[in-house]
Amino acid sequence: MAAKYVIVIPDGAADEPHESLGGKTALQAANLPAMDRVASAGLVGRSRNVPDRFLPASDVATLSLFGYDPERYYTGRAPLEAAAMGHSLGPDDWAIRCNLMTIRDGRLADFTAGHITSEEGAPIIQALQAELGRPNVEFHPGVSYRNLLIYRGQPGEARFNDQTITDPPHDHPGQPAAEHLPRGAGADLLIDLMERAKPILENHPVNRARIEAGKSPANAIWLWGQGEAPHMPPFQELHGLRGAIISAVDLVRGVGVLAGWDRLDVPTATGYLDTDYAAKGRRGVEALRDHDIVCVHVEAPDEASHEGRADAKVEAIERIDRDIVAPLLDELQKYDQWRILISPDHSTLLRTKAHDRAPVAWTIAGTGVPASGLAYDEQSAREGGGPFFDRGYQLMEKFLDLDWRG
Ligand SMILES: [Zn+2]
Repeated sequence: MAAKYVIVIPDGAADEPHESLGGKTALQAANLPAMDRVASAGLVGRSRNVPDRFLPASDVATLSLFGYDPERYYTGRAPLEAAAMGHSLGPDDWAIRCNLMTIRDGRLADFTAGHITSEEGAPIIQALQAELGRPNVEFHPGVSYRNLLIYRGQPGEARFNDQTITDPPHDHPGQPAAEHLPRGAGADLLIDLMERAKPILENHPVNRARIEAGKSPANAIWLWGQGEAPHMPPFQELHGLRGAIISAVDLVRGVGVLAGWDRLDVPTATGYLDTDYAAKGRRGVEALRDHDIVCVHVEAPDEASHEGRADAKVEAIERIDRDIVAPLLDELQKYDQWRILISPDHSTLLRTKAHDRAPVAWTIAGTGVPASGLAYDEQSAREGGGPFFDRGYQLMEKFLDLDWRG
């Protein structure tokens, strides 16, 4: 029987020691029996998933984690999300992230528009498409505040290029919007759409209802993360393994889809703290039966970090441990050869409420991996003697290699 592989990604779980956790990191403060079982029976090490020239975020970091060198394959965030949403891009097309967000007093008040639901967001995006859509400009609804704009280019048109600069709104919370508008080729088009969206959003019934309910309105769109389609060789071609991705986040699903993995949906997964952890764990266990490698990604620790909520971060990681890692680890014992990898994509710091480029701690256990006797946290990873992958994408090949002993 072929070997089985499991990857669990607690998004943004890696952190610094924090005073509200008694000087511990969230991973240290959390009670993690299953992850500690993996670490103790296996290795704990570190990876740098975000090369210097990139912003630390799940797009670049997930490519690394799945074994793809971002220097070769990263073309932008939105093309990954477009893939997850089932939109294909032609050679002259560009995908652009369209956040529904809240701008208050000219400032980037909330990049999530109060975590607007997909059900509320969809009619807003449809209204934008009806009023601002053109043959070459398409608005598409996504998940929650994460929606999509596609620009269909003419051959050789080059409306945007790699000098087009856009700023992620989550990296500049509370800052003046005017200081972070798009610059360079195509910026005029993006700024024009952002301006013309405002009156449509202001008068939209969904927003009126949100204001009445005391919630943040989606009173602005923010266009960023543009890129053309990447050309990634399928994972199965590279490694001979059939993969599946379980994630509520289009960005992460998109990397899986572009790697040729099956995208498995869990209807009760939300991409937020209230996600259905147990359903994701069950789906992962099922998926192992007809896939060689199964990846379960959970966004909740990242969201808790962006909100600066230490307790919520600890709780999210504990839920992942209990409802996802534990059942998957039990299931793997039924197979002769297996490995499990637990690794955040990137760090998200409670201190700054933002992503960080610091290396992340990972742990691997299974066939052939020697026991470290350690717990799973940043300190073990630094001091435990497990390898450090300065090029994070090189971890995947080692993880898959059953002869690798660390
Ligand atoms: Zn994040």
